[in-house]
Amino acid sequence: MARAAERADLEPVIGLEVHVQLDTDTKVFCGCSTDPEPDEDPNTRTCPVCLGLPGALPVLNEAAVEAGVKVGKALDAEIPEETQFHRKNYYYPDLPKNFQITQYDAPLCADGELEFSHEGERRSVRIRRAHLEEDPGSIRHAREGPADLEARTTSVDRADYTLIDYNRAGTPLMEIVTEPDFREPAAVRGFLEKLEEVLEYLGIFDAGSDGSLRVDANLSMVEADRIADDGSIPESVLDDANRTEVKNISSHRGAETALSYEASRQRDQIDAGREVQQETRHFNETHGNTVSMRAKEEEKDYRYFPEADLPPLRVAHWKAEIEIPELPDARRERFRTEYDLGAETASKLTSRKAVADFYEEVAAAFDPELAATWVADNLLGELNYRDESIDAVTDRLDEFERLIELVATGEVTTKNAEETVLRAMLDEGLDPDTVVEREGLGKAGDDEVADAVATAVAENPDAVEDYHAGEDGALNFLVGQVMAETGGSADPGTVNELLREELAE
Ligand code: ADP
Ligand code: MG
Ligand code: ZN
Repeated sequence: MARAAERADLEPVIGLEVHVQLDTDTKVFCGCSTDPEPDEDPNTRTCPVCLGLPGALPVLNEAAVEAGVKVGKALDAEIPEETQFHRKNYYYPDLPKNFQITQYDAPLCADGELEFSHEGERRSVRIRRAHLEEDPGSIRHAREGPADLEARTTSVDRADYTLIDYNRAGTPLMEIVTEPDFREPAAVRGFLEKLEEVLEYLGIFDAGSDGSLRVDANLSMVEADRIADDGSIPESVLDDANRTEVKNISSHRGAETALSYEASRQRDQIDAGREVQQETRHFNETHGNTVSMRAKEEEKDYRYFPEADLPPLRVAHWKAEIEIPELPDARRERFRTEYDLGAETASKLTSRKAVADFYEEVAAAFDPELAATWVADNLLGELNYRDESIDAVTDRLDEFERLIELVATGEVTTKNAEETVLRAMLDEGLDPDTVVEREGLGKAGDDEVADAVATAVAENPDAVEDYHAGEDGALNFLVGQVMAETGGSADPGTVNELLREELAE
């Protein structure tokens, strides 16, 4: 341990264990549904297998393995000939069998990699392994009292009792373990965002569902002079560094907050000449801090042994058979070349598969650049403003295309389409033609515009005089009058031309 007097610079070293729920129809070892019913009662979506009743036997869900293979391929990982399940033994009420079926020395995927961007730079993190396991049940600590349960929910140390719900138990999880390749808490966010993008592209992950991605974040402080120029750290240094593991962080932002807190807390410990305790800590989202939970378990505590109820599984052939779709990076590059889009627009349009799919439909019907403006700027901008996502409009592609058509054919001005029609479509669920009719936005007919031009000239003799005297502003003023008269539905270019003609006479 470095003493305060000879203290070297310290750098945070971070590795993640990310748990993602795989979006299968049924649980990983039984036929129970993975989809919570609205307002379902606790412990109703269960059976003898996921309740861990004596004698019940697990049957492996093929869809979970397929999803796992897809993750492995997307992470460029090795998929072995054969994989094996193990029992990880520990006693905790969320685990009805007192062991979790997981994987140990023969995981489904190993040695992968994920590239992501952080502050405009490309980064790469090595994936040590990714394995299948079952989600435990969920636990709620509560206090006695009359108010509703939500309000009485509390932390374990304040609780009068604990409630257990096994509806979640047995949901398939993929645990993705990185090498300790992160050096900044902020970079973890970029990684998690990218990981979610990839999982969503694979069609095996529902980012919107509660607790679908949970992170355990490991951090130690390492003396900068023990980190090589290429960023690598010798195994012995990593093993020697005392690290903490912050458990069960459920958001990207939470991961960054917890790690920043942990980095400064450890730095303070070391500065004060104290040794960092190797322990498991809990992230308090409300306070943005971490608190000690328990001494860190070691592998030997878990008494891993092979799950005799599930024979080794041959997976080699699946790797060849299972195909994965074009992933975000590849799609972004294709958008840049195929549609000639800038880097930023291409990124915006590919960060979610549903957006990219929507864009490609629109780009097939119109000019790709026009389509990009409408989808990336107008539509996503308005959705974002409303705190909504593309999901709100995926089944309204036809209406959106009709809107662009109204603009492209000159029936509605761009301004009216953006500011009135699109907004009413989103806020009131109306189709564009209905909005155009209701608001009288159809482009002003030739007669109407001609009348407005004549009126503007007749009613503003001063401006006409100024125009003839060569004052630049006068024409703009008159254009403004005509636009106001026609309720913004005239085309400014045409008005400009008509006015010049009228004034030349
Ligand atoms: P354990 O067996 O204690 O769970 P592992 O070696 O399996 O530990 O690593 C678990 C996680 O801890 C991995 O994500 C890994 O990247 C991370 N990790 C390992 N060493 C360090 C370290 N010195 N500092 C921070 N994270 C680390
Ligand atoms: Mg571990
Ligand atoms: Zn079940």
